[in-house]
Amino acid sequence: MGNILYIVVPCFNEQEVLPETGRRLSAKVETLKSQGKIGAGSRIMFVNDGSNDATWGMIQELCEQNKIFAGVNLSRNRGHQNALLAGIQTASEHADMIVSMDADLQDDINAIDAMIDAYHAGNDVVYGVRSSRQRDTFFKRNTAQFFYRLLKLLGAEIVYNHADYRLLSRRAAKALLSFDEVNLFLRGIVPMVGFRSTTVAYERGERFAGKSKYPLGKMLTFALEGITSLSIKPIRMITMGGLLVCVISLIMLIKAFVDYSLGNVVPGWTSIIISIWVLGGLQLFAIGIIGEYIGKTYMETKARPKFIIESILLQEESEVE
Ligand code: UDP
Ligand code: MG
Repeated sequence: MGNILYIVVPCFNEQEVLPETGRRLSAKVETLKSQGKIGAGSRIMFVNDGSNDATWGMIQELCEQNKIFAGVNLSRNRGHQNALLAGIQTASEHADMIVSMDADLQDDINAIDAMIDAYHAGNDVVYGVRSSRQRDTFFKRNTAQFFYRLLKLLGAEIVYNHADYRLLSRRAAKALLSFDEVNLFLRGIVPMVGFRSTTVAYERGERFAGKSKYPLGKMLTFALEGITSLSIKPIRMITMGGLLVCVISLIMLIKAFVDYSLGNVVPGWTSIIISIWVLGGLQLFAIGIIGEYIGKTYMETKARPKFIIESILLQEESEVE
């Protein structure tokens, strides 16, 4: 088992935090190197996800100053998950273990030590799991919890309170890259990779600087993406619901005929208008969910590239181990 570590950090408009992130991560990597936990060729790899601020310029500067830094520049913004995958792909050519984390220092970098220990103990995947969500807003905490529960209920295998802070061994990364789906929801797919895995708990802090790149709208899209990527149960539920309504309507039909033959047909405007609205709403909702899956299928059949790398900045170690 080799011990070259690559830390992959997707960055979208992160000019406010990047210098500090670079400082802290390089200090971390130097310490780990001096402790002999990781090899000399270890790198911090920033992936610029089509930022429209000074992010890429800063990454270039860091790479020039110190070869501990590496940079991947995507051709445009492709979203966090794709940026992460671009980084993992590039890193998997050089690294024995890959740690992915956010640029905003919310993930406690000191958990990396424990992740590396777990890797040396024979784990291919080490999930960083948040020990508490005390610092999140009430809203985010509860919606996130609801989302994890829902996914579990729908049969998706995800690690509770784990986001995208994790260590992957080279073979786990390669295995992950062999999943061809375009609609990518990494935290649902990594468990499918298999291999031995464990978790490391850490305290999630606040964003060091700058604004969240995940406003509510994006978060909802992401959640929907996750659900429809991992489970077809919603469609099955619609089918069952439709079946139930059919049974009810059969009963109603019989009842209507009985009422008619008995002669007590009272004009029931209220009940009719209510059923029209309820059924209309249910139908629209059902069509929407099915449309969601058809849209997914459509995108998958196109098999478009998930990201396009514009350039890579990476100085390899001269003495090859
Ligand atoms: N990010 C990205 N592309 C995007 C949006 C976000 O690469 O389109 C990165 C961002 O730079 C950060 C990470 O994804 O490193 C997580 O984003 P953020 O911290 O804003 O999300 P939050 O912690 O608020 O959920
Ligand atoms: Mg964040």
